Amino acid sequence: MKDMIQRLRNSYASGLTRPLTWRIHQLKQLSQLVDDHQHTLLTALATDLGKSAAEGWLTELGFLKSDIKHTIKQLPRWSKPTRVSQPLLTAPGRSYLQPEPLGVVLIIGAWNYPIQLLLSPLVAALAAGNCAVLKPSELAPATATELARLLPDYLDSEAVQIVTGGADIAQQLLAERFDHIMYTGGGRVGRIVMKAAAEYLTPVTLELGGKSPAVVLADADIAVTARRIAWGKWINAGQTCIAPDYVLVDERVHDALIEQLKQAINAFYGNDPEQASDYGRIVNSQHCQRLIDYLGDGTIAVGGRYDKAQRYIEPTVLTDVSTDSKIMQDEIFGPLLPVLKVTNLAAAIDFINAREKPLALYGFSKSARSLKQLTEQTHAGNQCNNDTLMFMLNPELPFGGVGPSGMGRYHGKFGFDTFSHHKAVMAKPFWSDPSFRYPPYTSFKQKLLRWFS
Ligand code: NAD
Repeated sequence: MKDMIQRLRNSYASGLTRPLTWRIHQLKQLSQLVDDHQHTLLTALATDLGKSAAEGWLTELGFLKSDIKHTIKQLPRWSKPTRVSQPLLTAPGRSYLQPEPLGVVLIIGAWNYPIQLLLSPLVAALAAGNCAVLKPSELAPATATELARLLPDYLDSEAVQIVTGGADIAQQLLAERFDHIMYTGGGRVGRIVMKAAAEYLTPVTLELGGKSPAVVLADADIAVTARRIAWGKWINAGQTCIAPDYVLVDERVHDALIEQLKQAINAFYGNDPEQASDYGRIVNSQHCQRLIDYLGDGTIAVGGRYDKAQRYIEPTVLTDVSTDSKIMQDEIFGPLLPVLKVTNLAAAIDFINAREKPLALYGFSKSARSLKQLTEQTHAGNQCNNDTLMFMLNPELPFGGVGPSGMGRYHGKFGFDTFSHHKAVMAKPFWSDPSFRYPPYTSFKQKLLRWFS
């Protein structure tokens, strides 16, 4: 591992990754890999997560390709120095921010979107001119194996290396020195990553999770709300970090929402979602059991069937859920949706603010004023009003958590910035060298200094 990282360091020091032409070529190669092997990659996703080809394309391969396209288009602009103004005291001269790569970075991915969460950070890291070591999640082994097989055929192996394995391998990597670490996964390991990074004062980006609420007010269009919540919740069988974790619904529309959720599930996946080609599976039997154990935490209003041998859990809506129950303490990260009644918006805001800052927050209402209040009076990494997940598809919006849901951000220019140092540069000419800045500071010089500053 040490030798591999040293090799990348040598490549970085040689200037290999600096030219924009090299960076753009690597990005094009990554896009080509997706084109050439989409069937293989989609099959691997189906093996690991029962992901349908449509879902795999929308949330992983297509997402990655548009990320690459946007990055290639914008990179010449992002990588240019940004001029800033020059205060009088420092004139004449020029001040600007010069983006420079960080060096050799480590990217640790999670299993739920095993391609997107590993390769989208890589797009940003390569765009910024870094070398990278990738560590895919061992919990999506088919995808990790394919990526490890394919990446070296497309990317410059003097600059990008992929290492497969579990926690032990991740820890061996973390024992080495990197110039930045981006980790996606749960908060427990996030703490391990941050401690290891502290050893070398390595900056970290932590893309973590948490319980992301959806708030449904009485004036929302309940049918559309239910469809959008159902889509965001049951895509990837609920194993999405920004899936609505639970719903706070105005009690006046509670029953209507449950009915519409039931209809949406039926419309998407039919009477028997186990047979639906667009409904995924739980990643492994431990996670399946963890989720099955939550079923007793409320009344099953919709769904509730499961087949552990097939890692299948039906899209399930739970009502009468106590706020003290386990399902309301842990991040669910699966296809169970507790729906809790609230009396009004203020009660929903209090509920959210009494808990950790979530990764995502969803508000549903026809009232712009209510949504503004929800936005202004709560905290969340990201917020989307009258929809779920969609904000991910706008590369002009950063993606990242706040507090326990994460630190740092990426996507589009924000990813480029995360993997760059924006060096502050001031360039001065020789021709002007007024003496008032130099001692001895006579009273006249002091007056001038005060006047100029
Ligand atoms: P995981 O088990 O795949 O772990 C993530 C990575 O950490 C893996 O590469 C794994 O090898 C590594 N790892 C595991 N144990 C380790 C250890 N002891 N030391 C060092 N590395 C170790 O993923 P997970 O933690 O089950 O992921 C689920 C969590 O991730 C959820 O909380 C979810 O919300 C969050 N998540 C966040 C995002 C985001 O973008 N913010 C995306 C996906 C998932």
